[in-house]
Amino acid sequence: MKRFNIAIDGPSAAGKSTIADILAGKMGYTHLDTGAMYRSVALQARNKGISLENEEDIVKMIAEMDLQMMADGRVILDGKDVSDTIRENEISMMASTVSKLKGCRSALVEMQQKICKDGGYILDGRDIGTVVLKDAPVKIYMVASPEARAQRRVLQNKEKGIEADYDEILEDIKKRDYQDMHREVSPLSKAEDAVEIDTSDMTLDEVTERVLEIIKEKTGD
Ligand code: C5P
Repeated sequence: MKRFNIAIDGPSAAGKSTIADILAGKMGYTHLDTGAMYRSVALQARNKGISLENEEDIVKMIAEMDLQMMADGRVILDGKDVSDTIRENEISMMASTVSKLKGCRSALVEMQQKICKDGGYILDGRDIGTVVLKDAPVKIYMVASPEARAQRRVLQNKEKGIEADYDEILEDIKKRDYQDMHREVSPLSKAEDAVEIDTSDMTLDEVTERVLEIIKEKTGD
């Protein structure tokens, strides 16, 4: 059976990654977390002391960096496992800032399209349905209230043993939403043919079921 690609977009902490992981497991597909790629660029810039506003140097840095997105979700940057480091709060905001640069976006979009060219991928991000996978047969746009998203992130962090302050997380979510929705290049927006799911009052099982229904409607699978 021909393997297609699935696009999942939406604001930060809407549960895109969790759902993408569940779907990948159920379908035997691979989850590509494109946010982790922007985070890796931000981390590399921090390590090398390159300004997030300096497009020329950032583009050069991306061309020279060895970024490996492993099928199991690990992220290897220049041979080092950075999967945990890229989740730092500071890196979230830095990723949002560097992702405004046109040159950064086109380099990462090209990498993403290359990785999933043969199908069988679930990509989650901000511009998947609108730019990276314009022709994907299944496009999901996941939203949830900032409060519901902050609450979930607090729980997730606590489970991982990371200190979590609700007000700080809520503030960060609102700030990143604004920045991601108002940038000039590929701002976060719903693709015309995407199906929106508001997960604020839904359980994980309900969201999974709804997404599987949409996949069936759109592809017959
Ligand atoms: O998804 P995540 O929160 O890890 O993404 C970090 C940042 O990377 C986002 O706030 C957004 O600015 C940027 N991003 C993007 N396009 C994507 C994925 C992430 O601009 N496809």
